[in-house]
Amino acid sequence: MTEDSLLNHALVRLDEAAAHLNIDPDVIEKLKFARETTKVRLMIRMDDGSRKSFLAWRCRYDDTRGPTKGGIRFHPEATADEVETLAFWMTFKCAVMNLPYGGGKGAVQVDPRKLSKAELERLSRAYIQAFARIIGPDRDIPAPDVYTNSMIMGWMADEYAQIVGQAEPAVITGKPIALGGSMGRGDATARGGFYLVRHLAEECGLTKSARVAVQGFGNAGQHIARLLSDEGGKIVAVSDSEGAVYSAGGLDVGLLVAAKDQGRSVVSTVGQAGHELLSAEALVGVDCDMLVPAALENMIHEDNAGSVKARLVLELANGPVTPEADRILSEKGVIVLPDILANAGGVTVSYFEWVQNRQGFYWDVAEIHQRLRTIMEREGRAIWSVSAEKRIPMRTAAYVHALQRLAEAIEAHGTQSFFTS
Ligand code: NAD
Repeated sequence: MTEDSLLNHALVRLDEAAAHLNIDPDVIEKLKFARETTKVRLMIRMDDGSRKSFLAWRCRYDDTRGPTKGGIRFHPEATADEVETLAFWMTFKCAVMNLPYGGGKGAVQVDPRKLSKAELERLSRAYIQAFARIIGPDRDIPAPDVYTNSMIMGWMADEYAQIVGQAEPAVITGKPIALGGSMGRGDATARGGFYLVRHLAEECGLTKSARVAVQGFGNAGQHIARLLSDEGGKIVAVSDSEGAVYSAGGLDVGLLVAAKDQGRSVVSTVGQAGHELLSAEALVGVDCDMLVPAALENMIHEDNAGSVKARLVLELANGPVTPEADRILSEKGVIVLPDILANAGGVTVSYFEWVQNRQGFYWDVAEIHQRLRTIMEREGRAIWSVSAEKRIPMRTAAYVHALQRLAEAIEAHGTQSFFTS
């Protein structure tokens, strides 16, 4: 691990949070390294008859609070450092939500768009063949991440069942509903963020008619726009990788979703329903009450954070605000609801899927929504209180809240003072 590794940057959060708690040094020693990261080469037969190998990893960062949980990413630039950093974040995200899990993550270094469908299936199955001894319903439970989806999870669950000789749906979450997936997983990330904002609306000075800008109009972005506009919110700007659209009076969300469903950019709606063209970069500085980053990492940075006019930022993306931007936003009095809380609805409904698979009894969507709402409100409120009591930003408060739970679990095994007294 080099000095400027991604993991080292992420570990700054651990030190920041530890400064607000009286925890044993054992805790930091345990959490500053991944417990195990396994690297393999997956070898598959390509459609043209040749053999090709791909680097792949699975990291189990910490399993003190339960089996490790985290997605599998297929990306040409995936690295071991990135996998460990994402697994570190999952450790804290699961602790924030009080899910009985540690944190894990996996990746294959591949551009899946360059594979045929049959090659993609062979690669997905090869991943499980390589990691079958590491994963398991009580050990490590993967899920979808960037460029992996429910069909891939279905192939992976099937491969695992063939290896162990019995159905084991709880080994993986994010499966198709027909193969043991959960109701309500599709919009869980956005819905969790929506429940959180609604619950803390008064404290954040938001009304139901708040004006909202959404950066990124994929799964998370489309669902949050729909949920907020159904409640009377005004979606004044949205962007995707090709540009942004704006309307002071509120965009037509149905029109935008229809464009995406037909494979077009949101920009293709310019000229209809009062939609005006905006550059993707300008979206961050749009006049609005709430900004929702729902695209990629590091999109709000030192050079554009000063232009933010929103009083609230809801981080549906992972890591969208850089540490420098965080400082600028904090000085401006902008409240940031951090990723490890704001987008944790996804892993929470994944947890519900695992519970349903293990008990063999499935809940309807109303029950999923109710349970998700209860957890988002409970943990959101607790973090709000930590933030107010200690006068620290919500992000630091979320790490403090999670670290407290991790520390209790690590210290329950005995600390230095226990063994020397
Ligand atoms: P997605 O691929 O469905 O959507 C991403 C969107 O971002 C696309 O519309 C894309 O066009 C847009 N985008 C890409 N580059 C952009 C740019 N420069 N400017 C503006 N928009 C740009 O992905 P998703 O599942 O919605 O995930 C979005 C973020 O939310 C990611 O950070 C992901 O890790 C995080 N997240 C998602 C889930 C989930 O359940 N989907 C759960 C937790 C976290």
